[in-house]
Amino acid sequence: MAAKSPLYPEDQLRRRAMSWAITIKVNPEQIQVRRLPGKWGSCAPDGIVTFADDLANEAEPFQDYVIVHELLHLRHRHHGKQFKALMNALVPDWRDLEKQSRRSADREPARLRATGWATDADD
Ligand SMILES: [Zn+2]
Repeated sequence: MAAKSPLYPEDQLRRRAMSWAITIKVNPEQIQVRRLPGKWGSCAPDGIVTFADDLANEAEPFQDYVIVHELLHLRHRHHGKQFKALMNALVPDWRDLEKQSRRSADREPARLRATGWATDADD
């Protein structure tokens, strides 16, 4: 009988995201982990959530911040009040984690960027 193969970091990251999806009560169509240059994650309108493969090497609190951010986009497309209220509830120190990152959690479409992460802290 073959020994149970160890999980690759990418698999662990995907599992972590699936477990958060249950916590948040969202149902992503698919969770992908792949090379994602320049960003940590993305959430497509069709419900496919993608995380950068190198996110798997980051500290777990930072993984959680990116995972929760992207999964919450399945509920709220914008970084509005409700989005931030949920971030505050689920990842209380997300603002510090955001500052630690040299990349934003995701790259928003241009029309969202005007009210985006960095500039709408007071909405
Ligand atoms: Zn976002």
